[in-house]
Amino acid sequence: MESSNRYTITAALPYTNGPIHIGHLAGVYVPADIYARFLRMQGQDVAFVCGSDEHGVPITIKAKKEGVTPQDVVDKYHKIIKKSFEDFGISFNNYSRTSAKVHHKTASEFFKKLYDTGKFTEESTQQLYDEQAQQFLADRFVVGTCPKCGYEESYGDQCEKCGTSHNATDLINPKSAITGATPVLKETRHWFLPLDQYEGWLKEWILEGHKKDWKPNVYGQVKSWIDDGLRPRAVTRDLDWGIPVPVEGAEGKVLYVWFDAPIGYISSTKEWAEKTGKDWEPYWKDENTKLVHFIGKDNIVFHCIIFPAMLKAEGSYVLPENVPANEFLNLEGKKLSTSKNWAVWLHEYLEEFPGQQDVLRYVLTANAPETKDNDFTWKDFQARNNNELVAIFGNFINRVVVLTNKYYDGIVPEPGNYTEIDEQVLAELRAYPAVIASSIERYRFREAQAELMNVARLGNKYLADEEPWKLIKTDEERVKTIMYVALQIASALATLSEPFLPFTAEKLKNMLDYGKSSSEAVISTSGVVLEDSEENEWEQIGQRTELLPAGHEIGKAELLFSKIEDEQIQKQLEKLEATKTANEAENKKAEPQKEITTFEDFTKMDLRVGTIVEAEKMPKANKLLVLKVDTGIDVRTIVSGIAQSFKPEEIIGKKVTVLVNLAPRKLRGVESEGMILMTENKEGKLVFVNPDEEGVKEGTVIS
Ligand SMILES: [Zn+2]
Repeated sequence: MESSNRYTITAALPYTNGPIHIGHLAGVYVPADIYARFLRMQGQDVAFVCGSDEHGVPITIKAKKEGVTPQDVVDKYHKIIKKSFEDFGISFNNYSRTSAKVHHKTASEFFKKLYDTGKFTEESTQQLYDEQAQQFLADRFVVGTCPKCGYEESYGDQCEKCGTSHNATDLINPKSAITGATPVLKETRHWFLPLDQYEGWLKEWILEGHKKDWKPNVYGQVKSWIDDGLRPRAVTRDLDWGIPVPVEGAEGKVLYVWFDAPIGYISSTKEWAEKTGKDWEPYWKDENTKLVHFIGKDNIVFHCIIFPAMLKAEGSYVLPENVPANEFLNLEGKKLSTSKNWAVWLHEYLEEFPGQQDVLRYVLTANAPETKDNDFTWKDFQARNNNELVAIFGNFINRVVVLTNKYYDGIVPEPGNYTEIDEQVLAELRAYPAVIASSIERYRFREAQAELMNVARLGNKYLADEEPWKLIKTDEERVKTIMYVALQIASALATLSEPFLPFTAEKLKNMLDYGKSSSEAVISTSGVVLEDSEENEWEQIGQRTELLPAGHEIGKAELLFSKIEDEQIQKQLEKLEATKTANEAENKKAEPQKEITTFEDFTKMDLRVGTIVEAEKMPKANKLLVLKVDTGIDVRTIVSGIAQSFKPEEIIGKKVTVLVNLAPRKLRGVESEGMILMTENKEGKLVFVNPDEEGVKEGTVIS
């Protein structure tokens, strides 16, 4: 490890207009958590902070739609989100919220300092105004065509399609998201952060200074923005939900959500420091502190350009050391979407796969969108659980613990002389801590986790090759050595898996009665830094052969992972299929109206209430049913193309609407005397258009 031992790790503040899903976990929180847990295990001083982002326009839109206050909306989702993080073992030192007092004060003071030192420009500009709603439109209150890529539903502050960040007035054909009206321009006064003045500095700091150590996807995006030329950005808004602009004459204005949100990292650190009796300032102002922002790619501009420019303008803060942003995760080939319910929600996952948080953490890391967009599929989820976690990791541990209990009553045996294979396996094991550490330090979590699985593979292969269960009959002494070596690998796994699979690591440590449990490690890092490298379990694996000494007693075997069955996966796929159909029905546009007809023409049609009295399949036709319908006038034959939607027996006795004076026509040789009116339901299934009122008699005229 490098000399610095203080880390401030931030994870993107989740926006509180909905719960969180696997995309959030994969892109931001799991990698950030792996990093934070790993550093703590190295004895580093870590502040891992986050909180709910509770201001901004989408929350006010949601509140309006639901007829509640914005505070109601954020209270609801803050609770759900916070619980999801706890449930999935995301080990924040502090999880705050931007509606907290400490944050309002911190953000307000931050703004005031920039204001007092003349870092803003103040301008009266023409902004979009909705005359119907009597309100200025910024950010998500406006939808229009993106000036860069032509996407027609770009928001006022950012285009979701190409990621470009712009001002609302840049949109082509803007429309109000509140009323749908075309906005007018109206003058208003705002404060701007003159980003153009920071261009030279940003070029030097990022384009020259971080060419090698920042991820290519992050560096590339930043470069393209800087190359396009930066423009002043308004940091205030005409809105009533947010942090009031702390300047006289700014009534009715609040800080732009993207100005206040990143300051939330600082407020969260302050809140944590207050709770634990620490000084927050070194975590943000000491030049030896490493500040690392974990975010998704849609936040790159704010964390690499706007927030650093704010910190630079303020003057006393450190700048991020790295911003290892991820690309997006898709679900079954389609973009995850909160509004379209195309997601795996964390709270729902836990109901359906109770106690299996680590499986999801594992799969999301194995498929992490580190360098390009990646896809989550349920089949892959099942395969990775069954073929990797169960068949390799779980199987190895189970064999070791079961056999140790069976042969030695759970006592680690005394090893004899090592064979060449034993020596080789132990040497290989000793190399892993450094290999995994190196990947984590370079933010390559997928690679790191793959190496972790290689440790389990090493153990699994060792047992499979040595076959102690066979040797026990012929060479008991040799088996002692084999089991001893296998137990060392098992204990190394308990330590090395902790950043990735904290729940499993904890179970395994309990099973082996080995090392510090991960929950203890988290508690100890709310302040205490490990003093003695002797206590660094991670390093010990690389230094010593003996992790579990002979004579140590382990516990009983407990299953770490269990097989996921096809039915469970099928259920998830059906759930997504239902979402898809519901979305399609929702988006289905009504067909355009047909040509105008006259009243006379309409009255020519004789529509009656009828009852189906007989129904059977038309031979050799898979779509047709031959029906006998009581029309009140007579009982007649009608051939209807509904055989794929209904079984004959289930529609007998059904009331239907019949066009009785349709000219008879022959279908497959059967004369059909009329037509039954049908429509489609949400799932695209045929349904009868029928009077659902009780007691409507056959033959009643419909007009
Ligand atoms: Zn665009």
